[in-house]
Amino acid sequence: MEIRNELLNENADRAKLILTTLKNVFSIPNPADICIDPFSLLVRTIISQSTSEKNVRKAYENLKSKMPVTPKNLAEAKIEDIENSLRVAGLYRNKSIVLKRVASEIIERFDGSLDFIYLLPLHEAREKLMGLPGVGPKTADIILLFCAGRPVLPVDTHVNRVSRRLGLFPQSKGGYESVRARLEEIYDPKDYFAVHMLFISLGRSFCKALRPLCHTCPVNAMCPSASFIGSLQ
Ligand code: SF4
Repeated sequence: MEIRNELLNENADRAKLILTTLKNVFSIPNPADICIDPFSLLVRTIISQSTSEKNVRKAYENLKSKMPVTPKNLAEAKIEDIENSLRVAGLYRNKSIVLKRVASEIIERFDGSLDFIYLLPLHEAREKLMGLPGVGPKTADIILLFCAGRPVLPVDTHVNRVSRRLGLFPQSKGGYESVRARLEEIYDPKDYFAVHMLFISLGRSFCKALRPLCHTCPVNAMCPSASFIGSLQ
């Protein structure tokens, strides 16, 4: 038990050092610049499936140029109008159907507003979001953290890969909820947004899926995977 506690403390100290280092390397955006309102962030997150940030921006701008992006407008829009806007982002037929359905359900079930994310207990708000079409745990957590500052740490593909390689979580074990719970346990809730954004920056710039740039990575001295992965380059 004592050895386990020592290991946990050691890991927690390393995790903090990693965060401090990343804060000195990358900038952290303002959540208010990402979430103008919960519904538009939900729309952008649904559009972002399997496409680049650049394409999401274009598709969202196309949509916005046709109509103010509100649940009512999307629920009433012609499916072809949504499809034409989203074409640039791929999977546009499927995404358009999901957007129309999610907009209709927000009107029917929540009177057209996602304001419950600010008011309900966290668990309840998360459940309600995940009950909407196209909304899984990652999307729900992004909305809860970015828009309402709720203490959840969303795990996207970069956060998942980076935290495993950094040894914060066993490489092979655990799905979304286990990784999220482990990161939330290690880090202070006030840092959840920073951890999410900084791990994404690290994943995009250095800890790439196929060819991680371990030799220039700012946290290579703290990373148990550095020499192993680096030796494959
Ligand atoms: S040292 Fe390599 S494996 Fe470790 S975080 Fe950096 S890029 Fe990823």
